[in-house]
Amino acid sequence: MENKIENAAFEIAGELAQIRHTIHKNPELGNREFETSAYIKRKLDEYGIPYKSMCGTGIKAVIHGGASSEKSAVLLRADMDALPIKEESGVDFASENSGCMHACGHDMHTACLIGAAKILNNIRDTLNGSVVLAFQPDEEGNGGAQRMIEEGILNNPAVTAAFALHVEPLEETGFLQIKNGSVMASPDDFAITITGVGGHGAYPGKCVNPIEIGAEILRRYKTEIKNDPQKHIVTICSFNGGTCRNSIPDTAVMTGTARSLDNITRRRIKRALSEIAEETALSMGGYAKFDFNELFPPVVNNESMNKIVERAAEKLSCVRGITVLNKASMAGDDFAYFSNAVPGAYFKLGVGNKEIDAVYPIHSPKFRADDAALPIGAAVLAQTAAEYLKND
Ligand SMILES: [Zn+2]
Ligand SMILES: [Zn+2]
Repeated sequence: MENKIENAAFEIAGELAQIRHTIHKNPELGNREFETSAYIKRKLDEYGIPYKSMCGTGIKAVIHGGASSEKSAVLLRADMDALPIKEESGVDFASENSGCMHACGHDMHTACLIGAAKILNNIRDTLNGSVVLAFQPDEEGNGGAQRMIEEGILNNPAVTAAFALHVEPLEETGFLQIKNGSVMASPDDFAITITGVGGHGAYPGKCVNPIEIGAEILRRYKTEIKNDPQKHIVTICSFNGGTCRNSIPDTAVMTGTARSLDNITRRRIKRALSEIAEETALSMGGYAKFDFNELFPPVVNNESMNKIVERAAEKLSCVRGITVLNKASMAGDDFAYFSNAVPGAYFKLGVGNKEIDAVYPIHSPKFRADDAALPIGAAVLAQTAAEYLKND
């Protein structure tokens, strides 16, 4: 059966590639997406979709559905920011902003959402509700999603569900990946400042060595907070103390990342990390100051929302398959703020094409994504919104 949304997406495949290349050439870091944001606004103007600016570079656009029904609104989100990475992908539309690269595919996300916007706007009279398009700044940094919510993106119209896709180069173009429950971790980090008593390395008995305290804290972390990839991961990533081969320093600093897949585990890990650090330091005659930096909550998918994505995908012949994941990613995504506020689904869009090139993971300077995935992403987003509004 003919699918109008799918046909429309493939009709604009060339335009989507051009949009993506334009954004890819000019990557901008979080909260500095000035030209990206201006470019999106020009596209929305061209399509006649109303919008307003939020959180500096962010954009909220709204497609108002058929007049009979304003009862609910569904939000589709794309992040716009790039990474401080020097591009080595070798594509002919590579970054012209040296040291900055769309290595997480947010250029793809933005192009897919612009495509979905165009498609949905053309069929808006048939939509049973409104679609809110969130072009979000600063996903890689401090959580632009949270600020968009604080500035009211979920109100007027009242948003009752949220969806987002993320590119996955390790999955083939034409396939989606989806997971029930926790899908991304809370990517929190922490620092432990250990204070001892410094002195001559020849007389450790007269000192309290903060390096030995740190080593004991690390040992206890490894044995008492065992990593469990289905729940949490704790990794120490730096340990600095001392400058001289025969002198015990007064202080040492240890930092690390703590990732949890649900909020209960997240609280438990935070408490265990701080208790072990403080207790160990005190028992060895020193003192530990523990600082925990809560970044984003874990992304937890709602099963009914996942079903809507699946139902939408089944209506699109361009989606060759849906892989149901049984393992969450230990990376984070601030879409968590949306899916904490309203039921949500976050799914992966395969953009790997081994026939074109070797496949590299996101955040690699060699990362590449297949343009052929753009109309698929746009169609899935548009069909998901239509499907949600039909069912709500
Ligand atoms: Zn990223
Ligand atoms: Zn990303």
